[in-house]
Amino acid sequence: MNIILFGPPGAGKGTQAKLLQDKYAIPHLSTGDIFRTAIKNQTPLGVKVKAILDNGKLVPDETVVDLVADELKDEKYDNGFILDGFPRTVPQAEAFDTIAKDQNKAIDAFVVLTVPEEELISRILSRGQGRADDTEEKIKTRLEVYHTETEPVKNHYDAKGVVKEINGIGTIDEIFERITSSVEK
Ligand code: ADP
Repeated sequence: MNIILFGPPGAGKGTQAKLLQDKYAIPHLSTGDIFRTAIKNQTPLGVKVKAILDNGKLVPDETVVDLVADELKDEKYDNGFILDGFPRTVPQAEAFDTIAKDQNKAIDAFVVLTVPEEELISRILSRGQGRADDTEEKIKTRLEVYHTETEPVKNHYDAKGVVKEINGIGTIDEIFERITSSVEK
């Protein structure tokens, strides 16, 4: 099963991705996690993207697309994957269509986690992960970027008939239950 987890910062994508990974035994691929690890290890990629992440802006499409295309070639993704944080722009979604076609990986479910904006901000501020982009100002930038650049990606998948809208308010277990029953339908 190939799943894309979609939603604004603070919607709970990372949390639900880990649960889905365990339940379906398919790996979680988070572009944000890859970038944060690269920054921590000061790799060339990390050096290149650090200021971008710190400011809540987006890494250039080409960098992300190449990274995902390459990563997905790993045979561990052959039986499925949970994509989290990608595609995040319409050009990324278009590029991913080509990658998915070339690698024979159709998307089965595009799961949208919906959470009201006030709740997102308070969740991020209270999760205290010590991320440089988790200040109130940077969260506002990330939400703006989400609305302008990322939200339109949903229309791209609407056209494919794979969108599953999930209410992202509730306990972690309740939301997980909504997601699994919707993708198994
Ligand atoms: P969140 O959903 O909380 O914003 P992520 O871990 O998904 O967190 O992403 C953190 C940051 O990593 C983003 O603000 C952005 O700078 C960068 N990033 C992650 N994925 C992408 C992507 N697909 N395209 C561009 N930038 C990305």
